[in-house]
Amino acid sequence: MKRVRRTAIAALLAASCATPRADAPPGSAAPPAPGTEAPREGRGRLVVCVGDSATDVVPATWALSSVARELGVPLYDVSVGSCPPIPPCFSDERGLLCRADVIAKLVRTAAYLAHQRWQGPGDAQAAFPDHAMATADIASVNTDEKIEQAIAAAMRDESGLTAEEQRLARLTRSIMWVPLTFLIGHEDFHMRGNVCGAPMEQALRRQVSTMSKLDAGETLFCKGHLELNEVLADQCGLAYVENIEKRGVPLEGADLAYAKRAGVALSTWMLLNRFRWSQPGKMVITSPAGYLRAPLRALLVGSRAAPAEDNHRACGEAAKLIVTYIQAETKRCEDAGLPWGGDVPDSVLELLPPRVALAWAGKERWDESTFSCTD
Ligand SMILES: [Zn+2]
Repeated sequence: MKRVRRTAIAALLAASCATPRADAPPGSAAPPAPGTEAPREGRGRLVVCVGDSATDVVPATWALSSVARELGVPLYDVSVGSCPPIPPCFSDERGLLCRADVIAKLVRTAAYLAHQRWQGPGDAQAAFPDHAMATADIASVNTDEKIEQAIAAAMRDESGLTAEEQRLARLTRSIMWVPLTFLIGHEDFHMRGNVCGAPMEQALRRQVSTMSKLDAGETLFCKGHLELNEVLADQCGLAYVENIEKRGVPLEGADLAYAKRAGVALSTWMLLNRFRWSQPGKMVITSPAGYLRAPLRALLVGSRAAPAEDNHRACGEAAKLIVTYIQAETKRCEDAGLPWGGDVPDSVLELLPPRVALAWAGKERWDESTFSCTD
């Protein structure tokens, strides 16, 4: 097994990657245990709750309802309520409750990324630009015509769109599809009384089991504290995240590759921030107890959603964020005075661009090309 040494792992924090702020809010986001009501055969109520702005309700409700419908997750009786102090989304057997502001922000960020591709030159390249996530994050909190145009196209019936508008709509829906599918699949597991409604491959079970052992052990991080049902809910979310092209969002070629990369990057950004975009462009580490550590969750999403031409590895900005946060997690262990290993196993390295292993081993310098999608 190829491993990198503890001494090597510290190097990246000083490298050119954006260093995240280290002030970790308390892990208050774990949802309460599911209720005790009898499961209603997987059917659920959707409540979209209003935070700062009522205008968030329409895109949030549309996004949750449309992705759930594509996945075959029934959400009925859609209603709007005020937000209790909850995590971004919470579910039990009664249904799913999500914050409109958080979901709308996710949709706006996807729309911005879609528009960047749509207005770009030609379609030969699927490159996903560096620093796109921070840029998109900042753009999504302002009134932005590009974003409004992309969301409006995505929400309309395709028959009323021109071919170019269809392309923009499909890009938007495909990008937001990745994080929302993981989220809804995770919550659907809880809504069914902690049962997964999607078929699952043994390979996925093995992969999630490997990541759980890594999180709970001391070979890379310090000991984590996992709750089985949260890990299994993630596993279920991943089972729902299959190839976008099978799910009725017809895109092809470079557009499809771009949408997948952007979807993985947006999922990574979402998981690492745990939806808390309180400061545009800034990331805040949160590690709520019970869940797999965020970089491991992001790696797993990448393994399911990254395009075949990237060998199903997270690359580009997603890979850079994941590597940066693996570093940051080990530093948190060190700062807390807990035993930690710093050995990055093959099960992690094989989900990242090949040159990451070389950089971690000290054989190459870290730079932007370390994370390249085209090596
Ligand atoms: Zn959960």
